[in-house]
Amino acid sequence: MHIMTLNIPFDNSYARLPERFFARQTATAVAAPTLIAFNHALAADLGIDATAMSDTEAATLFSGNALPDGAAPLAQAYAGHQFGGWSPQLGDGRALLLGEVVTANTTRHDIQLKGSGRTPFSRNGDGRAWLGPALREYLMSEAMHAMGVPTTRALAAVRTGENVQRETALPGAVLTRTASSHIRVGTFQFFAARSDRDGLRTLTDYAIARHYPDAQTPADLLDQVMQRQVALVAKWMGLGFIHGVMNTDNVSVAGETIDYGPCAMMDSYHPDTVFSAIDQQGRYAYSNQPKLAHWNIAQFATALVPLMPDETTAINQFTAILNRFPDLYAAANLETFSAKLGLAKSDPELIDGLLALMAQDGADFTNTFAALAADTARDQFSDRAAFDAWHARWQAHDPDTALMEKTNPQIIPRLHQIEALIQAAVADNDAPFHDMLAAVTQPFRANAAYAQPPSTSEMVARTFCGT
Ligand code: AMP
Ligand code: MG
Repeated sequence: MHIMTLNIPFDNSYARLPERFFARQTATAVAAPTLIAFNHALAADLGIDATAMSDTEAATLFSGNALPDGAAPLAQAYAGHQFGGWSPQLGDGRALLLGEVVTANTTRHDIQLKGSGRTPFSRNGDGRAWLGPALREYLMSEAMHAMGVPTTRALAAVRTGENVQRETALPGAVLTRTASSHIRVGTFQFFAARSDRDGLRTLTDYAIARHYPDAQTPADLLDQVMQRQVALVAKWMGLGFIHGVMNTDNVSVAGETIDYGPCAMMDSYHPDTVFSAIDQQGRYAYSNQPKLAHWNIAQFATALVPLMPDETTAINQFTAILNRFPDLYAAANLETFSAKLGLAKSDPELIDGLLALMAQDGADFTNTFAALAADTARDQFSDRAAFDAWHARWQAHDPDTALMEKTNPQIIPRLHQIEALIQAAVADNDAPFHDMLAAVTQPFRANAAYAQPPSTSEMVARTFCGT
């Protein structure tokens, strides 16, 4: 079926790489696709003309039931460390890269279907996604973008009209997402682990040309990927975002947040917060994220070693780069929290003092900073004397409230509300999804309906992977 009302100006550079980088694969048709959401603003930004496209046509295309003209669908190969353990063969087991578009400002973006059926990398999986994770990723990624965090974006969500079997039968969905690319640390590891030096070289040249055009060497690439990872994780920390599965196959070398699985934003502040049910050791707990990002970048360095003239040179150069991670992160974190407190001159003890008071009370992370911007936070603290002492020291900095207001969101995608909208969507009511999407994409605007932390009965203790 040809759909002439959608024009995606594809230019598929990944599909021109050697065949062993991927498996060409088409989507498996679904029974009765219906459109949940299409992101017209994002489409327009990407130069995709969808103005004449009907919802039925959108559902047909973004379920994978028809291929847009110019697409060259494929499943990308990659490997990765999952919770520290090595998996030599992962790859897109339920996703297909349709192709890439190049926008007017010359940035290239991938367009990928997620949940579109089995691929040669599916192992025991069904290649499908259920509605819950698809809506969660749509909402989370759009919220993160609105809060100024580099991230993949959501272009479309479609119900398949079929059930997928998990612990119970659940409605299936396909999410279409866009990304600066889907090249992961695990993509490099895939070639390094196979001693495929040519593949590794080709991938490195490709990643440099696409993302870091001024990098001259693998060491430059490592350094620049590390810097973007530092900046990214500092943003996560400043918002209370917990990714949940920071495996090397979920680390984009472009420095975007990718693969929203059991992620969540923290309500009540505690540094040890962890949501993911599979993360029983708390490996990816909130406060561990910088350390694990460093570990992931060290795995990236290891994968790049074969490209260096000899191992000693590689170890010397790469160790010098990796050793800068803690200081770079400390500086980025200080900058993040200084902005949150409107400080022109940083004051690490002031920041730590506030976080200690917040942890003691389990204060709501988002609402505390929002209240500080309005200078109405005092009521949120049980130890008023300690807060007053802290407040006097803070006020001596003459905090910049305009900076605080544009740094501290009022509205974040809260887990209990996401869970509620998923339940509604399972019962065929998408209104809560659309309402919440509208709210979380205006994060700096007050909105009483979405600002409340969960009550004790609403609290969600655990999240589950998007499978
Ligand atoms: P993720 O946890 O989403 O990062 O996925 C880790 C690996 O498992 C990737 O290789 C995925 O493609 C694969 N995977 C996850 N869910 C499925 C599924 N339902 N069917 C096939 N492969 C899957
Ligand atoms: Mg993944």
